[in-house]
This record gives sequence, structure tokens and C-alpha cells, in this order.
Amino acid sequence: MARSSAGRCTRGRSAIPELPEVETVRRELAPWLTGRTVLAVERVDAPEGPKTAGLERAVGQRIEAVTRRGKFLLLPLRPPTPALASSAVGDELVVHLGMTGVLSPRPPAAHLRLVLRLDGGDPDTLYVQDARRFGRVLVVPRGDYRALPTLAAMGPEPLGDAFTVAAFAAALARSAQPVKAFLLSQRPVAGVGNIYADEALWRARVHPASPARALSRPKVRALHAAIREVLAAAVELQGTTLYDYRTVNGEVGAYLEKLDAYGHDGDPCPRCGTPLVRSVVGQRGTHHCPRCQRRARVRSAAASGGRAARGRRETSGPGGQR
Ligand SMILES: [Zn+2]
Repeated sequence: MARSSAGRCTRGRSAIPELPEVETVRRELAPWLTGRTVLAVERVDAPEGPKTAGLERAVGQRIEAVTRRGKFLLLPLRPPTPALASSAVGDELVVHLGMTGVLSPRPPAAHLRLVLRLDGGDPDTLYVQDARRFGRVLVVPRGDYRALPTLAAMGPEPLGDAFTVAAFAAALARSAQPVKAFLLSQRPVAGVGNIYADEALWRARVHPASPARALSRPKVRALHAAIREVLAAAVELQGTTLYDYRTVNGEVGAYLEKLDAYGHDGDPCPRCGTPLVRSVVGQRGTHHCPRCQRRARVRSAAASGGRAARGRRETSGPGGQR
């Protein structure tokens, strides 16, 4: 039976962009914006508030780099005079695209919120479009994320060296939340949102509602590997475009066709053929295979013989510790 990715995926809006989409945007912005000075900030439809704060502080400052943490773009700024630069930590422009944020050198047809005028040659204007206004654009002292608690508490980058199986296992062991909800919190690892959580959990054969601390070591290892594989492959294809996400150059991401689980409820599991089901975990639409992804249970202290039993329930995955 044919799997209908595009049609299925339009059900249930997801909070993309996630890490692969933001990384794609970062890669396109970096060569353009690095070294440019912000000449002016125009608030078209973005009054000062929690979502657009302190922007005027960017005026006169130079963008030193375009970096990323999880789903946040971080642009460290440098003041114009050396005296100021040496005495202060400096500021940082923080951008979260929310669900519908688009950064572009071309003016959008609608929902324009902010305009940043830059020095240097064309294109010399950054347009910030955001239809649903879930995005945020702030200027904060560098590294001061008190206004951004998710960023402040964010776990390691999934494709970086700090994201080890041991660190991931330790983080999961501290949470009784459903593993998917815990992933979405960004605390065990940065950048995993609704789509790639479903994909990684399917690939690792982990039930999304399993308590995080109930995962066996083989399952932790499988999930760790799956998160890295799924995100790396999605970055390679410039992410997944379901709705508003576009690259800076206006292109769409091609990972949509690669989705195994997300948006495929009712379609046969690519591994076993069982129809995938949709449920709600942590208030988010969730897709899993009821046959491949069995729910893990926390062993009670009394049931000390439970390890073998749990090992039988969770049959798949690489065995042994390394
Ligand atoms: Zn299956």
C-alpha cells in the first residue's frame, strides 16, 4: 500500500521549525550576516514586549557570528568602539522562529514584523515575517538567558560531543515524565521537537509514553543513536517543510518524504506493517507503532527480578554495555 506522506502530514500543525530547519537557516544566514553592522531596527508590527525586547540596543553593533543552540539562533554583537568592547561582555541577538517565523532578504507579502537595516552591499535588509507571532527576537547581554528559561536549561547539542550515551542516560533517569514529553522539554538534549521526537522514538522502538527513567540501557543507546541519525539526515535535506518553514533562500526542506512515523497514522509501519496510531503525549499529537514500540514500565524496588522480565518485553536493540 502506498504511504501518503504529504497528505497525511498536513493534519495537526506541528511546532516546526526544529533543529534541522533552524540549522539550515543558520547556514544560509551566516555568510551573509557575519561582519555586518546593524544600522537601524524598524518595528513594523512588533511592539516592545516579551517576544521582541531590547532590539534597539543592536543598532550600531556588529554581528560577529551566526550560531545556534537547539532551536535558537544566537548572534553575538560587538559594540562599535574598542573601549566599550573591552569593558563589556557584549550583547547577543536571540531569534526563535516559533512556528511561522521566516527570515529573508526579500520583503514578505504579509505578516512583516521587523526590519533590520544592515551596512555592506546588497542584500542589506533582513525581513522578519511571523504569521502567528510565536517567534521571539530579543537582544540580551551575552549568555544572560533569564528571559529565556528553555534556553537557559537546555541540554547538550545532539550532534555535538557532549551528547554522550552516559549523559543521556543520566538525564533520562532523573525524569518520570513520558519520554517524548521529556525530549520536547529540551532538557535531556537540545533541538528535538514533535516531528523528530516521533521519528527517533519509532526508529529506536521506544514507546513515546514510556516513563523516561524506565528505559533500559539498550533502549537509551538506541534512542541516542536514533536522535543523532534522524537529525543529521534531516539537516542534510534542509529539514522538513509542512507549512510555513522556508530556507532563507525561499526553498522547502526535503525530509518530508523521509518521515517514517510522523503524520502517518493509519499507514502501515515501514518495519512490520501494523497500522501506525496517533495518540496524545504531553498535549502533542504523537505517532507510533503499537507493535514495534512497547511501553516500558518502571521497575518497583520490590520487583527486583524485573530486569529479566523487562529485557524480554524490550526485545530489540543492541545488547551489552560498551
Ligand atoms: Zn511496527
